[in-house]
Amino acid sequence: MLAGKAMRNIRLGTLLGIPILVNPSWFVLLAFVTWLLAAQVYPGFVEDRSAVLYFGMAASTVVVFFASIVLHELGHSVVARAYRIPVRSITLFIFGGVAHITREARRPLPELLMAAAGPLVSIALGGLFLFGFWLAGANDERAFDVMFLWLGLTNLALAIFNLVPAFPMDGGRIFRSILWLVVRDYHSATTTAAWTGRFFAWALIAVGFLALLRVPVYVIDEWWQGIWPVLIGWFLENAARQSLVQAKVIRALDRYRVTDLMTADPPIADAGTSVAALARGVLEINPRISYFVEDRGRLAGIISSYQMMAVPQARWDDVTAGQAMIPSSRLTAVDPEKRLSEVLMEMESADITHVPVVYEGRVLGVVGRDRILGVLRQSGFLRSAQA
Ligand SMILES: [Zn+2]
Repeated sequence: MLAGKAMRNIRLGTLLGIPILVNPSWFVLLAFVTWLLAAQVYPGFVEDRSAVLYFGMAASTVVVFFASIVLHELGHSVVARAYRIPVRSITLFIFGGVAHITREARRPLPELLMAAAGPLVSIALGGLFLFGFWLAGANDERAFDVMFLWLGLTNLALAIFNLVPAFPMDGGRIFRSILWLVVRDYHSATTTAAWTGRFFAWALIAVGFLALLRVPVYVIDEWWQGIWPVLIGWFLENAARQSLVQAKVIRALDRYRVTDLMTADPPIADAGTSVAALARGVLEINPRISYFVEDRGRLAGIISSYQMMAVPQARWDDVTAGQAMIPSSRLTAVDPEKRLSEVLMEMESADITHVPVVYEGRVLGVVGRDRILGVLRQSGFLRSAQA
């Protein structure tokens, strides 16, 4: 959700059916970690060896290191899928890894397990590598042992950093779920956790700046390394602020139920009707029009102005409603009492503009994305141009 909008991701392959992607920004991190290991870390332990050996050690370590990060994200993903929350991808980028989990859990406990799974994987991996270090003989002047040691300590450090209760980091999500469990209020739990996240982010930025100004901050060895806390803090600050906006959006939407916004009994069109017959003269007057499309008396799909406009006007006479509609196989019917925030999230993840409202097997009406966005506009979240 946060990474890689601007640059195209490269697909490495799939794990458990989840695409593993690499954002081009990740190569900066790859280069930095490789350099750090080859030039700074390993020569300090295994002394007076060739640059080729250091580089070989660094190169093989980073492969395992980034595999560890993917496993961490896979930990989150496996729990998400156990709760039937779809996982779109796992992406490596400049600040590490991120699992693109399509939505949050609706209850605090699944959210807690989902957030905790990643750090637990990192702790397990850290323990495993340290065990490997011990098995190898724990000689920190020998190449093989030192690689195990670094991987072990780094995975543990990663787990600890991720467990800081700063939303939306893993620890912040755990913190939020616990608050949610205690106060039984999603909104206030998220707001509190997100503000904690922002304070932590500002603290990181401050520490980074102090280091860059060459003030000794103890946690950073070299002044120029202050750039990382500044960047990571800035990234976290953005993410935490977005979470706050998102929480407000959810609250604004959840004041309504589907029934409040639904268009009851929309007009019905036959699947064989041409788009021209539906659109011509109607779209200008009512751009929010939508039809149920029936094929031999059965609901076959929904067609709205979005789908009609997607057909070039020159072809309006040739294309039928049945061809242009969103077929019912892609539509997920919603209950009239469902929360609007959940409906909007489902629309966004399935990339559809309308959903039929169904109660006890009977189609009551249709709710359109534009009506939901209208609520957000009224609440001041969107400017009219963004409709
Ligand atoms: Zn994580």
